[in-house]
Amino acid sequence: MATKIYQCIQKIGEDIIANKEFLTDLDSAIGDADHGINMARGFTEVLGQLPQEEEDISVILKKTGMVLLSKVGGASGPLYGTAYMKAAGAVTGKKEITLEDGKNIMEAVIGGIKLRGKAERGEKTMLDALEPAMDALAKGIEARDSPEDCLAKMCEAAKEGVEYTKTIRATKGRASYLGDRSIGHQDPGATSALITLEAVRAFYLEQVK
Ligand code: ADP
Ligand code: MG
Repeated sequence: MATKIYQCIQKIGEDIIANKEFLTDLDSAIGDADHGINMARGFTEVLGQLPQEEEDISVILKKTGMVLLSKVGGASGPLYGTAYMKAAGAVTGKKEITLEDGKNIMEAVIGGIKLRGKAERGEKTMLDALEPAMDALAKGIEARDSPEDCLAKMCEAAKEGVEYTKTIRATKGRASYLGDRSIGHQDPGATSALITLEAVRAFYLEQVK
């Protein structure tokens, strides 16, 4: 039997792959029309390479990051690669994780992406989905909301973040070449980040059903 963490990455990968065209269309408006192709290629490779029976969550996350780093080009390969490597570092040796661990993962992921991409929230990148999502998750945990509510709020905040990217100008990555013409378009990387968080939430809900 494949482990839960394998199944969770599998769910993320399947959802990214299912959205290959959508993500690529978004990138065609403000980039070079490859975000979906990049991400789908990366996750196809990840799903082929991950050891299905590995129980150590950090081992799976690290391997995911390494494969994305080596197989995905563009900005998103190094950024998502770093994200998964950092996620691994936040849960070293763990076979189960809590919501609190989830928050720590998000913190590490965001820190890693910021360092690698030299970006901040508000520059029309994946950070505009991830940072509000982390804040909402942290708030939910603090308020002792149920895990279901915490994850729902996390995804809602990510979705709002994606909507927000439509209203702002890109100042990082390829889309920044467009300047003001990037306004009005939804950021592809923020969208793939939202798809990732939605996949994690869906996976969790499936487990507790
Ligand atoms: P490329 O731009 O090299 O073609 P992709 O199309 O795969 O790479 O990914 C584009 C996405 O990467 C953007 O939509 C944005 O969310 C994200 N991105 C680009 N540059 C940065 C950065 N410096 N920091 C964070 N995210 C970034
Ligand atoms: Mg691109």
